[in-house]
Amino acid sequence: MCKELAALGFVASLRETPGHPMVVGHDEDASDGLHVLFYGHYDVQPTDPLSLWKSDPFEPSIATEPDGRRIIVARGASDDKGQLLTFIEACRAWKAVHGTLPVRVSILIEGEEESGGANLMPFLKANASELKADVALICDTGMPDRKTPAITTSLRGLVGEEVEIVCATHDLHSGMFGNAARNPIELLCKALGAYAMRPDV
Ligand SMILES: [Zn+2]
Repeated sequence: MCKELAALGFVASLRETPGHPMVVGHDEDASDGLHVLFYGHYDVQPTDPLSLWKSDPFEPSIATEPDGRRIIVARGASDDKGQLLTFIEACRAWKAVHGTLPVRVSILIEGEEESGGANLMPFLKANASELKADVALICDTGMPDRKTPAITTSLRGLVGEEVEIVCATHDLHSGMFGNAARNPIELLCKALGAYAMRPDV
């Protein structure tokens, strides 16, 4: 990936993190003005279940859909390698025609998006002045269909929660045990019900 970016005139480097490294590239021919930071990720979802693949996921191929569309099929082709390479190839095409890009472009590619991106925020903070940009462009999204482009805003992250409800360890005799003895299943249902009622969920 660094070589690909270098061939485009970008100064690119692999940057270590406690997890998978980041790829960072800056356009060396950069014009002054608007600084665009493009984000993508090189890690992908697991291939399972393999039985649902019509071809080897590790052998990229071009398939023809029933409606005649030609598509690239490979592990990660639609998330996020296709989008990532579309942007890089668009930069290559623009430079071939115009010589330099119309804005200053930096590219940041991480390798832990599918596993929570734990090292992304610390990396951004540690390299804030280098990566500071006017616009962040993320093409890790989708389109309703082939002919309907979409601008996706307000992307959400992931939240994982573990709820533990501790209750009595043995039957409680109503005549012997004082105060209310809450039923843990009822408590859990109430908690889940309250969560589902949130207007933003
Ligand atoms: Zn993605």
